[in-house]
Amino acid sequence: SGRINSIPMAPPDKILGLTEQFNADKNDNKTNLTVGIYKDNWGQVTTMPSVARAQAMLDQSFEMNTDLSYLPIKGCPDFRENVLRFLYRESCPQGVELLNQERISFVQTLSGTGALAVASKFLSLFMSHTVWFPNPSWPNHANVFQINGFKNINHYTYYKDGQLDVDGWISDLEKAAKSTNDSFPPCIVLHACCHNPTGLDPTLEQWKRIMDKIHELKMIPIIDMAYQGLDTGDVYKDAYLLRLSLDESRYQWSNGLFLCQSFAKNMGLYGERVGSLSVVTSRGAEEKRSVDSQLKKIVRGMYSSPPGYGSRVANIVLSNPHLKNLWFQDVENIAKRLQSVKAKMAERLNWDSLQDPTRQHGMFLYTGLNASEVNTLREDSSIYLVQDGRLSLSGLNDSNIDYVCDALRKLEK
Ligand code: PMP
Repeated sequence: SGRINSIPMAPPDKILGLTEQFNADKNDNKTNLTVGIYKDNWGQVTTMPSVARAQAMLDQSFEMNTDLSYLPIKGCPDFRENVLRFLYRESCPQGVELLNQERISFVQTLSGTGALAVASKFLSLFMSHTVWFPNPSWPNHANVFQINGFKNINHYTYYKDGQLDVDGWISDLEKAAKSTNDSFPPCIVLHACCHNPTGLDPTLEQWKRIMDKIHELKMIPIIDMAYQGLDTGDVYKDAYLLRLSLDESRYQWSNGLFLCQSFAKNMGLYGERVGSLSVVTSRGAEEKRSVDSQLKKIVRGMYSSPPGYGSRVANIVLSNPHLKNLWFQDVENIAKRLQSVKAKMAERLNWDSLQDPTRQHGMFLYTGLNASEVNTLREDSSIYLVQDGRLSLSGLNDSNIDYVCDALRKLEK
């Protein structure tokens, strides 16, 4: 109605609201297993050793550390060079050809969310108004796309009875394609690895079937890579979906491919907002230049330019060979701890094989608990999970895993 007294109440954020409730909880055994921030075995959120070393180097460099001026609209030029090398030479070697053909438009973004925001704004302005997300997905996906102009927000079958449902997924896409006469291509968001919240990822063979279908239906792929390295512990290995998708002997993405990438989790740079959007264009440099210019205009209108500090830290990690090796080790340690927590849970719980924690990838365990069981855990034991039953594994450690597993076992009775 155009009046400030008639603004409807927005629903609270499903995840961050629980932390407020947790903070107010007086139980000494309270355990927060909601947010996806990595904690070590002592329950601490610590800076990764490689990243701390990079910060120390930055501190000592008067020149680097005192420059508080603006970064360019599309971000720091060194960051661009380092991240393009990391993604399109090291993580995905066939990307070199794309770089040589000047087909990759790149912007430094406010982490993964910022990449999704810029991508969805660009797509809704020029190319599409329909998007498909997995069901379930990270709840903010739909929010970001809706706020940035997408009219049709859909979910494809992903998870059924504790398992990935690839047939259901493919048949949803086929049905949707048959029932539309929209001339704009639909977008589809794909979790590169460590699917949030289910922890279930397709195998490479399943991805081939899925990507073949997406390609056949001329959908626009948007790869959301927020957990690179946290699955296997090897950042390069975890980029398998990117490597498959950019295999040009198999796929030509006539409307481009979008990669939203984040260093929040794999460098622990959460609050510094460090990530990138790349748009792989279908033909040569001319198409890229137009995309570049429009992305620049969007960023200028949204927030003008990205923050500097985190990208400087990432630059040092990505360009100093010693620190880079240390970083690989840090990521591997995180992934190993997550795997060991899952194994310890599996020992303590006799869940059937479908729910077996060790089948799931990444930071989260999708427990299969329903909302009332999640409430019971919170009310009786002060154990906080997201309402859909997602449990953040790194909140578990040697001093609380028995307490939590006991409470979980009680629910089974
Ligand atoms: N995509 C997915 C699937 C996520 O889980 C997250 C983080 N929770 C993000 C994107 C974005 O995170 P950030 O903006 O912190 O990089």
